[in-house]
Amino acid sequence: MLERLVPDEYVASVFDIDLEGLKKRGIEGLIIDIDNTLVSWETKTADHRILEWFTKLERMGFRICLLSNNTKDRVVKFTEAIRIPAVYRAAKPRKRAFVKAMAAMGKTPSTTAVIGDQVFTDILGAKRLGLYAVLVMPVSGREFFTTRFVRKIERMLLARMVKEGKLVKPVGSRVI
Ligand SMILES: [Mg+2]
Repeated sequence: MLERLVPDEYVASVFDIDLEGLKKRGIEGLIIDIDNTLVSWETKTADHRILEWFTKLERMGFRICLLSNNTKDRVVKFTEAIRIPAVYRAAKPRKRAFVKAMAAMGKTPSTTAVIGDQVFTDILGAKRLGLYAVLVMPVSGREFFTTRFVRKIERMLLARMVKEGKLVKPVGSRVI
């Protein structure tokens, strides 16, 4: 169980992801979480920095699919201006939505990476299908009540992974 919770990479933010490194690994498709990975959950649309990052991804030849456990309203509003395929109410870590996202991009598990801020949804979901998993630190410290509880366990697990040498702690953080 624990092995499936260990991300392949742990970085401070999406902007710290080594995109060239992913390319070298043969990654062509990116499944990306929205809430607290790209923006805080209160932020309805992508800011210019995120838009520039998406442009960079596309220029580098990555296919992208956003994958969120949040509602249709939230996801549709977020993607309306950026026209990127998205799956809402994904029920991560269940496999189904990840498979759907890969199909939308025309990619396979060996060429797909997942980028997200939560170990028990994004990382576990990725690992269940053998996808490369990149954990980012949450954009905002503000969380739903249920997430706050999960975060406590997550922090303990991550500290243990770092202590056991399974994970390298990222330098810097965007957490307010
Ligand atoms: Mg998230």
